[in-house]
Amino acid sequence: ALQLRGVTKRFGSFTAIEDISLTIEPGEFVTFLGPSGSGKTTTLNCIAGFEEVTAGEILLGGNSLTSLPIHKRNLGMVFQGYALFPHMTVEKNIAYPLKQRKLPRAAIARDVAFALETVGLTEFKDRMPTQLSGGQRQRVALARAICFGPPLLLMDEPLSALDKALREQLQLEIRRIHRELGTTVVFVTHDQDEALALSDRIVVFDKGRIVQIGTPRELYQNPENVFVSEFVGESV
Ligand code: ATP
Repeated sequence: ALQLRGVTKRFGSFTAIEDISLTIEPGEFVTFLGPSGSGKTTTLNCIAGFEEVTAGEILLGGNSLTSLPIHKRNLGMVFQGYALFPHMTVEKNIAYPLKQRKLPRAAIARDVAFALETVGLTEFKDRMPTQLSGGQRQRVALARAICFGPPLLLMDEPLSALDKALREQLQLEIRRIHRELGTTVVFVTHDQDEALALSDRIVVFDKGRIVQIGTPRELYQNPENVFVSEFVGESV
């Protein structure tokens, strides 16, 4: 399981997140949902290792991640700022994390082929990122994030730059991939419909704190307060 225990992050005197505690079970798809500035990305960045926590602890499978550098956390990441390498083909982009891990060449070829197949881009493997659509690029980013079999996949608004139809198509694909691979996923969005469509459980953030954690049905039927009912309920 992924456990956050009292995680707090301050930037100077400003508290971005405060006392965030939650447990995510292996194989769960959990979404952080909340308005802009509510602390979703900061929490994800603390899990990823992009930010150091000010207080609290993060554990994965019982081991503390808190003081490990990013690469030692061994997590899959699809982040907005974590773009594809523009000078590498699709195939080389996906192979990159495997090469960094110094896998034998045959294993790299096998894992890249599997990841390409999983995201449906096998015939695009020799293209450059500039020769792909936005949706295809996000698929490459996803393939690169899953190719080394990470225990945890972190995604920060991976679909927000795409139009509605494409977004919905990729939501279905992300769900399928999650089902097929059984990876634990933490997904950040400010889009209620997306959260409801994808998640086993949703963590609702407001002003740097968790307001409620529950299944889509629980949040919809039993919102803890007006904020949750308005934020989760209005679009259903
Ligand atoms: P969005 O949906 O807009 O990305 P969010 O819920 O992900 O919002 P965060 O990015 O986690 O929100 O930001 C939470 C708060 O922390 C915001 O008020 C933001 O301005 C502040 N913050 C984030 N990063 C920094 C930083 N490096 N320095 C100072 N303040 C920061």
